[in-house]
Amino acid sequence: MKHRNLPIEIAGSVVEPGQRKRLEIPVARLPTGTWLALPIVVVNGAKAGPNVWISAAVHGDEVNGVEIIGQVLEETEPAALSGCLLTVPIVNVFGFNAQSRYLPDRRDLNRSFPGSARGSLAGRLANLFMQEVVLKCQFGIDLHTGSNHRTNLPQVRANLHDEETRQLAEAFAAPVLMHASAIDGSLRKASTAAGIRTLVYEAGEPLRFDDAAIRLGRDGVLRVLAALKMRRTAPKRKANHSELVEKTAWIRARHSGVLRLDTQLGARVAAKEKLGVVADVFGDDAWPVSAPSDGIVIGHTNNPLVQQGDALIHLATMAPEGAAPASLLATAGD
Ligand SMILES: [Zn+2]
Repeated sequence: MKHRNLPIEIAGSVVEPGQRKRLEIPVARLPTGTWLALPIVVVNGAKAGPNVWISAAVHGDEVNGVEIIGQVLEETEPAALSGCLLTVPIVNVFGFNAQSRYLPDRRDLNRSFPGSARGSLAGRLANLFMQEVVLKCQFGIDLHTGSNHRTNLPQVRANLHDEETRQLAEAFAAPVLMHASAIDGSLRKASTAAGIRTLVYEAGEPLRFDDAAIRLGRDGVLRVLAALKMRRTAPKRKANHSELVEKTAWIRARHSGVLRLDTQLGARVAAKEKLGVVADVFGDDAWPVSAPSDGIVIGHTNNPLVQQGDALIHLATMAPEGAAPASLLATAGD
């Protein structure tokens, strides 16, 4: 018999072991005077275990994670849980209401961590989230999608040089796994600096639900909770063997025009393979978009209107089977 869990206090409210509570943490007033609050559901397990946070919509227009958290909560009963789950489906409440990635002052919340109580609005929100949620946990999962008309193949980004982080990243079982250095100001950088192991899951595109990305995300989170021994069962669906990325590169437009893409997420491509064309509106002056090397398409734009230099296709080179995680290069940030 495991020990009974401890009560947890969030923003002045106490959640007892075996209890599930919905809380609203006040953030700031809008110019109209209305209070904006951070919605959070705390599931405090009856049995002792780690505290884990799951967050989404740090970028306000990235909604797949909002749905993933809802589905994880449907599967989570406080009586059967060991440890405490702190779920925050909408961190950037300002951006979510405006269907925008950013804060009203155009700041990126994921470049504003750890923030400060007297900083910009983004910095204050980052600080509130760190103090009330992140710093009360031993582990966290932050859910994202591609940005700016781009979609991502479901992928986990984490510090794979750390053995324990790598094991949890593998437990998530996303199709693709990459060692990614955390960008300055990101939630993952701030939480890792505080000694809290963190995974980022990236899947799909902004302002769209992607059913496959949501299902893989929900299963992945539940598998990580099982690996942490917070729940006894993991999803029955067969787990992917995550393919390990060695390095990634964006294929950029060499010319402005209209993009006709002829590839898809997850496609395995060979060096010099044609993946689409950029041409003028009549289809004249077509410039092929070719793969610079063998790889897997892990992201692409969905916007056919391209400017010279725009990022079109994100191509990953896979690591050889059995490659040591310490040999992996750091790839793009969160
Ligand atoms: Zn994001």
